[in-house]
Amino acid sequence: MLRSKLLKALILGAPASGKGTISTRIVKKYAIEHVSSGDKLRDHIERKTDLGKEVQSYLSEGKLVPDDVIIKFMVAELKKVENQAWLLDGFPRTVTQANALWKLQPVDVVLNLVVPFDIIIDRVKNRWIHLSSGRVYNIGFNTPKVIGKDDVTGEDLIQRPDDKPDAVKKRLEIYDRMTRPVIDFYLEKGILKNFEGKTSDEIWPKVTQYLDSLKL
Ligand code: AMP
Repeated sequence: MLRSKLLKALILGAPASGKGTISTRIVKKYAIEHVSSGDKLRDHIERKTDLGKEVQSYLSEGKLVPDDVIIKFMVAELKKVENQAWLLDGFPRTVTQANALWKLQPVDVVLNLVVPFDIIIDRVKNRWIHLSSGRVYNIGFNTPKVIGKDDVTGEDLIQRPDDKPDAVKKRLEIYDRMTRPVIDFYLEKGILKNFEGKTSDEIWPKVTQYLDSLKL
């Protein structure tokens, strides 16, 4: 696809707000690189790298990885894709991270998904993921063809340890406290765009309408 400008987009949303689903659809439709900090950290944990061992306890407890660790990691990851259009997902989560990113690469647009917290807590109980691809299923909503198996590979689906209700509640609280200032940071830059809805299917048409209007 020909573009006059490489889009540097960012997606914000509470844990389990459908950010993963919307991100997957965006990168597919607009053929851009998906850079997900959570997926990358889980991959390191899976591969038992030094970084994986360092961050494992934060993820299983639903806590944020320290700023210095995640910034160093994500700056290196973003340098790998500096000549590509990308959608950043899960980073930044604090104002310190947002400032570090802005210095490296000012983003063009910030898509903010707004989903009520009670809807999120209910949804997470039914969430299953395919670890290696990051595909997400919701029982009763986008149920896998075979329960417990990935539609594409047939491999096992897992429930993330940090999807347990206590960990989710903690993550939503952390999100509110730590990430609201990030939303304000981008509001001040004038590049924040809110998308409201209860489900990804409700939000998706609003997102495409907006991205299409940017004439990528
Ligand atoms: P996610 O898949 O985006 O919900 O991320 C899962 C977990 O990875 C979070 O609960 C954090 O422990 C860690 N993590 C991912 N991105 C960041 C970030 N930008 N800052 C700190 N911790 C992060």
